[in-house]
Amino acid sequence: RSRQAQGQPAKPVRAPARRIIAVASGKGGVGKSTVAANLAGACVKLGLKTGLMDADIYGPSAPRIFGLSDAPGLRKGDDGIEPLEAHGVKLVSMGFLVGERDPVVWRGPMVTGAIRQFLTEVNWGDLDVLIIDMPPGTGDAQLAVAQGAPISGVVIVSTPQTLALDDARKAAALFDRTEIPILGLIENMSFFLCPHCGEGTEIFGRGGARAEAELIGAPFLGEIPLHPELREASDEGRLVASGDGPVAKAFVRAAEAMLT
Ligand code: ADP
Repeated sequence: RSRQAQGQPAKPVRAPARRIIAVASGKGGVGKSTVAANLAGACVKLGLKTGLMDADIYGPSAPRIFGLSDAPGLRKGDDGIEPLEAHGVKLVSMGFLVGERDPVVWRGPMVTGAIRQFLTEVNWGDLDVLIIDMPPGTGDAQLAVAQGAPISGVVIVSTPQTLALDDARKAAALFDRTEIPILGLIENMSFFLCPHCGEGTEIFGRGGARAEAELIGAPFLGEIPLHPELREASDEGRLVASGDGPVAKAFVRAAEAMLT
């Protein structure tokens, strides 16, 4: 349905990027933000001008993952809000506005307003790809993104466990209802990749997300192993995807699958 059919004014807003890809999960803690950040890093590696919008209003983690926890707040320039930049990725995050440790206690309309502002008032420049790190669940923020910009599609992140998969299915259903295509599923923590011997161990049982993707008729974009480097890197503000180890390669493969 068109914007006007939904009772909203038709806004001639310039799209913030040629491709806008939302990264979502039904459940928190499945590594959605880690995957979103590293997919952005992988896009940079693929030579694309890339931005990341951290729409996880209640638990913004992009500042930490990108090593910008102590960065100054966002500035308004002549052409709108100026994004920060780290590892080649242009970034905006609620975390830059409210401080990482302040709990955000906001009502739905404020969340919607903040997300709209990020989508329409940031000077993203000439981006090939904008990755949106969505908050978990299916609420106001999801609708604000779905209705606030021409989203190319959504990538759903899940772990192999049934519970996380059930929630991923709900997230997929929400985007389906808003007629945003599901670009595919990424299975995070697919297996434990031992940093010492390089052997993979299937802790949660592997392949759940692949089966789920088949069930909902969406592409399966790849497996990201459980690897201590990912957590360490996130805590230190490094992006694993910027390196060239096996985990970085897994992210580049997933990004390529997401972009095809
Ligand atoms: P979400 O955005 O889904 O809440 P996060 O991306 O914040 O989840 O990840 C939760 C925690 O798990 C973080 O400490 C992160 O570093 C860690 N993590 C995520 N994915 C992996 C992985 N594949 N291997 C190791 N640690 C991971």
